[in-house]
Amino acid sequence: MLIVEDPQRTRRLHRIATRFGQKFREMTVETFRAIVVSRGEDKKQSVAVTELSPGDLMEGDVTVAVEATTVNYKDGLAITGKGPVVRRWPIVPGIDCAGTVVRSENARFKPGDQVILNGFGVGETHTGAYAEYARLNGDWLVKMPDGIDGRTAMGIGTAGYTAMLSVMALERHGLTPDRGPIVVTGANGGVGTVAIALLGKLGYEVIASTGRTEEADFLKSLGASEIIHRDELSGPAKPLAKERWAGGIDAVGSHTLANVLSMTSYGGAITACGLAQGMDLPTSVAPFILRGVSLLGIDSVMAPLALRQEAWARLARDLDPAKLEALTTEIGFQKVIEAASDIIDGKIRGRVVVKMDH
Ligand code: NDP
Repeated sequence: MLIVEDPQRTRRLHRIATRFGQKFREMTVETFRAIVVSRGEDKKQSVAVTELSPGDLMEGDVTVAVEATTVNYKDGLAITGKGPVVRRWPIVPGIDCAGTVVRSENARFKPGDQVILNGFGVGETHTGAYAEYARLNGDWLVKMPDGIDGRTAMGIGTAGYTAMLSVMALERHGLTPDRGPIVVTGANGGVGTVAIALLGKLGYEVIASTGRTEEADFLKSLGASEIIHRDELSGPAKPLAKERWAGGIDAVGSHTLANVLSMTSYGGAITACGLAQGMDLPTSVAPFILRGVSLLGIDSVMAPLALRQEAWARLARDLDPAKLEALTTEIGFQKVIEAASDIIDGKIRGRVVVKMDH
């Protein structure tokens, strides 16, 4: 990726850091916008855009002025209450942000540094990213790699970083483009679109599985060479079926993952990161004991710092910026709650980036 140093932007970020850092130190930032998810005594969940003060943020040694955030499937579950993501009430949801350090008691960071946060329970048990400020533990933060800015980082977000972790896991298994095609399920989703763009750039033949076959041209423009309908994979799986791919990145789980495993060629590997169809895995041991297939688990939330840094450095290098732009939709902060419902209803194509205006 081309590294563009923009002195004007750097000066602006330092101005933000200085202005807000000073305000934070002097506690003159009185209120800022945030989304809060609450639960009543009847356990009914509600969500609202509101004003918070610095005292509402949980403990942390680094305060970040949030420049951009995003809407992941997990954020959709947290805001709609359709999955048990939130484990502390009330909470500011939002599992991802990128921004500028405005205050730091952590030796790794100083005001003005650009950082990325993915996971670590932020937006689940720790006040999260859907606010103009986030107070975080410095051990959770990755320094922004060269060539990436906050908007780009959140175009990628946890979904894209998970796609990268998945590609890296396939590589560690020894899969190379000459071994055969890679299937990507949930192809029009966040993990799926970024996975296709990465695999395409790395020279793999990609088979995209989707319920939205009308998006075939879009998926091909990202790097897919063949599109299959997800119905081919969504019913009960045979223990073994005809070998169709050397590997796969699965964001769907359940019968889909079982079918993907049963169609993997000898010695291949499939990564499992998601549960869009379901959390179950109705499979047999046949692919493992008769074809030596491996199932590789991917967790982005607690991934160690070294792995995160490697994944973000690879994203800066191996993700084509034009393809990322093509799969990204930008929305304002006021649209986050609506986008959270849309992602659960499968209406979002690719990734959503949320730009914050300070
Ligand atoms: P998205 O909602 O963006 O994409 C999910 C895609 O899955 C949809 O676009 C759709 O693709 C497909 N899908 C949805 N429902 C079904 C269904 N019933 N059967 C088959 N396919 C379906 O989510 P993300 O890409 O952001 O995340 C995907 C999954 O990965 C989620 O379950 C998420 O929780 C998980 N995840 C896990 C992480 C980890 O650390 N392990 C990190 C990030 C995400 P299409 O329209 O093309 O069919």
